Amino acid sequence: MHYISNDNFFKFLDKLKNTFNVFVPVKKDKQRFYKKYDTPREDIIIGEVRAFEPAKAFFSHAREIVAEGFKNTSPQMNKKPLAIVGVKACDLKGFKVQDHVFLNHDYKDPFYIRNRENNLIISADCTSAIDTCFCLAVGVTPYPEKDFDINLSSVEGGFIAETGSEKGKATIDAHANLFESVKTRAKSQKDEQRKKVTKDVERNIKENNVPRQESLKGIIEKNFESDIWKDEARACVECGACNTVCPTCHCFLLYDEKNKENLARLRIWDSCMIKDFARVAGGANPRAKLWMRLRNRFEKKFYYFPKVADFYACTGCGRCITACPAKIDIRKVLKRLVKGE
Ligand code: SF4
Ligand code: SF4
Repeated sequence: MHYISNDNFFKFLDKLKNTFNVFVPVKKDKQRFYKKYDTPREDIIIGEVRAFEPAKAFFSHAREIVAEGFKNTSPQMNKKPLAIVGVKACDLKGFKVQDHVFLNHDYKDPFYIRNRENNLIISADCTSAIDTCFCLAVGVTPYPEKDFDINLSSVEGGFIAETGSEKGKATIDAHANLFESVKTRAKSQKDEQRKKVTKDVERNIKENNVPRQESLKGIIEKNFESDIWKDEARACVECGACNTVCPTCHCFLLYDEKNKENLARLRIWDSCMIKDFARVAGGANPRAKLWMRLRNRFEKKFYYFPKVADFYACTGCGRCITACPAKIDIRKVLKRLVKGE
């Protein structure tokens, strides 16, 4: 465990720029967005809550060329790696889901591997919660406990930095002059801060009656033919925003595009809420109705994933609640599924 002052933290980021493309969360109005780090600026927010966009976008690009001119396109391995700073625990869980799909199976996605490899993940504790956060209900703490290289906890005048991997340790060792030993007062500030944010999320869960993950077992099988799906899907406008903002959604579509000289094959994010998502050649569609597609979205996260990976593919980040123009609220749907009414 180390302490780094605010001034030294920016010197640290400046040093990291030699090896990495460094990205930091920057606050604009009430939201935080990732921006490439250039020089110290006041609107860089390491604590608070998750960024607006899911951090999956760093590794699973929204749009990417995967083949050109009828030739296989090799991922360019010489790209400068990324140092992503201020990643929250819910996005670390999102990485776990994406890794399960693109990295830890028989087929290893070379583009995802290229984007994911050699990066430095510098996560950070949440220091506040927005009213849609319910991470603790699905077993994610609002402060990272694993799956990071370095984790930062905001304390007076700077941060406590903890290492979670050999790479993180080597990075701190290489910049040892910027770090100090941690004082007892800073340690208690970190613990107090974690207790406070835990209380904030617990209050959200209680106020919204969000079911705990222990009660989610079997909710999809039990409600497979329920009218809840039709009822909840009634307001859906099929925009796909719930999929796009979700750190765990990973479905993609391949399509071909021609410019003047070349034919290129592109991969873009897809949405299982859209009618043509599951349509096959000949026009048949196993999920022709919107309620079937809504059910499929929940089925994937709360039935299929626990079955194949032993964890729920939801991080409790609440992004889909904010993004949905129809105000379909995953917390409410889960509550109805647990009750079966
Ligand atoms: S389903 Fe909603 S709350 Fe769960 S991880 Fe996706 S965006 Fe976040
Ligand atoms: S964000 Fe809401 S309206 Fe849009 S597809 Fe998802 S559930 Fe439907």
